[in-house]
Amino acid sequence: MLKDRISSAREYLERFGVDAMLFVDLCNIRYLCGFTGSDGALVVTREGGMFLSDSRYTTQAAREVTRFPSREYRGKLDGIASLIKEFRVDKVGFESEHMPVAQFRSLTDVLPGVELVPVGTELATLRQVKDAQELELLARTAEVASLSLLDICSEIRPGAKERDVALALEFAMKRAGAEEKSFDFIVASGVRGALPHGKASDKTIEAGELVTLDFGGVYQGYCSDETVTVAVGTPNERQREIYGIVKEAHDLALAAVRPGVTFRELDAIAREFISAQGYGEYFGHGLGHGVGLEVHEQPVVSFRSAGEAEAGMVFTIEPGIYIPGWGGVRIEDTVVVTPDGFRTLTKVPKALMVL
Ligand code: ZN
Ligand code: ZN
Repeated sequence: MLKDRISSAREYLERFGVDAMLFVDLCNIRYLCGFTGSDGALVVTREGGMFLSDSRYTTQAAREVTRFPSREYRGKLDGIASLIKEFRVDKVGFESEHMPVAQFRSLTDVLPGVELVPVGTELATLRQVKDAQELELLARTAEVASLSLLDICSEIRPGAKERDVALALEFAMKRAGAEEKSFDFIVASGVRGALPHGKASDKTIEAGELVTLDFGGVYQGYCSDETVTVAVGTPNERQREIYGIVKEAHDLALAAVRPGVTFRELDAIAREFISAQGYGEYFGHGLGHGVGLEVHEQPVVSFRSAGEAEAGMVFTIEPGIYIPGWGGVRIEDTVVVTPDGFRTLTKVPKALMVL
């Protein structure tokens, strides 16, 4: 499996006309060589490569990195520079979105005669089509998070603080096997629901409010992402109406997921439906994003995106309506594109839950 990932990384060498690629982004490093520590660098050449890290990680690298030899450095930049000199390469691509300008300048200084070629957003597509092993991990983390939410539903009640709900969910998720949460949970009740990114606050949940919960876990490095909006007590007519519109937009977009559909089309399906109901101005963000080793990664599913869905891609469908002074509704599922459609990884049913 890792061999295929390395071959796809090597395709970038051809595409950008470079002799080697220097990786410093930890997600790309983990993806390509399996290293899970918090610092290191990977150089991939046409025929070989080398993983570099400091003494804290020598033992771990020996265990985790099997596709490349590993070497310990004392200073990271010096280690990278001497390796590049040893490889006798003239042009080296680097992740321009992950290398600070100061580091780039220092490397340029110590590598006279070597051309450092910035490789930017093109590289972000490296991880967007998932392999079987990744899909298994993504399914597992999504399931753990979904079941944990269902487990703590009784905590979402009048008098409970948003923060306490978030803590209960985090505890349940970790107890069920998640290593970490994939981002700070959003628990936005009542009027706070109008904040698409309303992190859990000290606000007390009241009867008659909608509560939006956006949450996810991490399992073996892979993230999940799901949003559920629930009603605490019997919802009123407007709450039902707006929930129904978001749910329909979500279902319509979801049903259109298959290889070949463009991201713009998917976004437009949800957006046009919401607009036709008169709420277009209240749906500001894009429809979704890729999920993998990072909770937000390629592809971007929005009105601004080029590109189309391919089998093996994993992304979210998350339309929402946010009305200042009233509140909001967002419904989010993470799906994997299959050869003939899609499969949902997140598991909380999306019919309006009344607690
Ligand atoms: Zn989310
Ligand atoms: Zn999301």
